[in-house]
Amino acid sequence: MIPPDLQELQSNGVVGAGGAGFPTYAKLLRPAEVVVVNAAECEPLMHKDKEILRHYPEEVISGLKRVMGLAHARQGIIGIKNKYTDVIARVGSLVGDSVRVHALGDYYPTGDEFVLVKETVGRVIPPGALPLDVGAVVCNVETLWNVHHRTPVVEKFLTVAGAVRTPCTVRVPVGISYAEAIAAAGGATCPSYHLLIGGPMMGILETDVQRPVTKTCGGFLVLPVDHPLVQRRKMTYQVINRIGKSACDQCSFCTELCPRYLLGHPIEPHKAMRGLVFTSRGTTMVPGTEFCCECNLCSLYACPEGLDPKNVCVQSKQMIRAAGKKHPQAGQPCQVRPMAEGRKTPLPNLIRRLGLDRYDNHGPLRPGVLETRRIVLPKKQHVGPPAEAVVRPGDRVAKGTLVAAVKEGQLGCSLHSSMDGRVTAIDPEIIVEA
Ligand code: SF4
Ligand code: SF4
Repeated sequence: MIPPDLQELQSNGVVGAGGAGFPTYAKLLRPAEVVVVNAAECEPLMHKDKEILRHYPEEVISGLKRVMGLAHARQGIIGIKNKYTDVIARVGSLVGDSVRVHALGDYYPTGDEFVLVKETVGRVIPPGALPLDVGAVVCNVETLWNVHHRTPVVEKFLTVAGAVRTPCTVRVPVGISYAEAIAAAGGATCPSYHLLIGGPMMGILETDVQRPVTKTCGGFLVLPVDHPLVQRRKMTYQVINRIGKSACDQCSFCTELCPRYLLGHPIEPHKAMRGLVFTSRGTTMVPGTEFCCECNLCSLYACPEGLDPKNVCVQSKQMIRAAGKKHPQAGQPCQVRPMAEGRKTPLPNLIRRLGLDRYDNHGPLRPGVLETRRIVLPKKQHVGPPAEAVVRPGDRVAKGTLVAAVKEGQLGCSLHSSMDGRVTAIDPEIIVEA
């Protein structure tokens, strides 16, 4: 049973808008000491959180104070990159006594919850634990913008970057197609391209531009099909394992730069690579890989051989989970490694290494909200089982009408129409409106 004061967040469909999609009410079921606003936005070329803070600081601070009240937290901290001096000055002048702005270095992955909490609160979340285990709740900027509005979540901010004429941040109805967002950014500048949804580091490859923008999409990159980042995403596990097994020289750079290793967690990706050699199947369970946050720094930046320790760690992690094994250091306190400060990865270096310097941009927010005549709403836009449709084909709907809900007692959030129109189709995964 969700407490009444959190029920509104569930019925309005408020989920983590930074990519994870965890229902916000579920983060607030236990009290916290501090609420940290994640405005670090360390995915290269992504800008929507900084833009929301720049244009709507009062709304974000109001949402933060509401969440602080719901979590019984006495302190709020807004973590934002120190390079955004104008935003820091403006937000700093509005926050009041219980909230402070924390200027973060321009590193990757400062937006990782574990790194962010260590930087802003000064506490290290133990391996396998949650921010709440050290008294913190982390919320994305846009999530707080949604909390402030106290209405159904039907719009989304996202940055459209890469090979487009006018890279920018746009505000769109949830369910609009990627193609419409690309058109709003002036169209693609190359004839044949794919998308990296979420950004170049942790983003997912998408080849179909007609697929819909969801509540969790913070932006995407348009890249030519022959860009190395696209080609890397197309490699199969089999090829990753075969090349890794024969080419890894065990230099351990992947471990030395791994942000979770530097926090003191017992993860060493070079050992996962070593593990490839010891099994004919090409994959083995290597303890510690369950703490990999999949930031991709080892594969896309650290490894001098261009190998893919991240995906090897992910395979190992999946096997460990399937086997139900528990690491002896899970949940145990740990110490930041002494060399951590000097091993941070500067964002400009990363952008160069990724071959993205020619696409660098500031993602300015375009005024207004894009309009559309058709939306596709996936029923699963949150962590937990999909919502179930409460409308039928042919039903008239208005912007904000409830179209899908989760069963009582299940983790998840309601889903609403983002336009005035009619339901044209429903299948097990999506609701289509026009
Ligand atoms: S950095 Fe690359 S070559 Fe070095 S140990 Fe890691 S995977 Fe192997
Ligand atoms: S993806 Fe690589 S660098 Fe990132 S946490 Fe996992 S092992 Fe460490």
